[in-house]
Amino acid sequence: MKPLIIANWKANPGSVKEAKRLFKAIPYNRQVVICPPSCYFYLGKKHKLGSQNCFLETGAFTGELSPEMLKSLRIDYVILGHSERREYFKETDELIREKVKACLKEKLKVILCVGEKKGQNTLTILKRQLSCFEKGIFAVAYEPVWAIGTGNFCNPEKAKKALDFIKKRTKTKVLYGGSVNSSNFKQYLKQGFDGVLVGGASLNIKELKKMI
Ligand code: PEP
Repeated sequence: MKPLIIANWKANPGSVKEAKRLFKAIPYNRQVVICPPSCYFYLGKKHKLGSQNCFLETGAFTGELSPEMLKSLRIDYVILGHSERREYFKETDELIREKVKACLKEKLKVILCVGEKKGQNTLTILKRQLSCFEKGIFAVAYEPVWAIGTGNFCNPEKAKKALDFIKKRTKTKVLYGGSVNSSNFKQYLKQGFDGVLVGGASLNIKELKKMI
């Protein structure tokens, strides 16, 4: 199976002009899913697109997006449980579990993020966070929080232990995320990861093209 690249742009870039430039420069590839801020979805018509988050339902929930909206926009993929959502927006496992269910109901391809903070026991945290796993989830992304956006990527052999733990419990695709770039991504594929979730390096066209 060809490896997947999930590009998480987070709240970047800051202008529509720059978003247009990025979309234009990224070659279409069916193994690549771009997750831009939702205000830029309309620019990515030829690319596979994903949302960085999603709420539970359509209705009086100011500032949110619903699974139904994503489905009707043909945004097939959705990232849930990203550590930045957990940390800055106080998302709990309980809420993430509800979001997973709501997105699966709309047949969205859910990418569930899990991973420990510095000093936490990896397998204990994974066990707890995998309580959000549901049959039908598209992929689980193992993202040690201390490796995200720090340049301090996880030792691939150590990541393999998390990979095995997640695979055994979920029997689904497992991605690695955390300071992935064009120099280190192959090491994770060699360990058996089905792909990578890329943040910072996905905004750098040269880097992203090299990985593609
Ligand atoms: C991420 O956004 O999930 C991520 C892994 O970011 P970065 O690649 O910048 O560490």
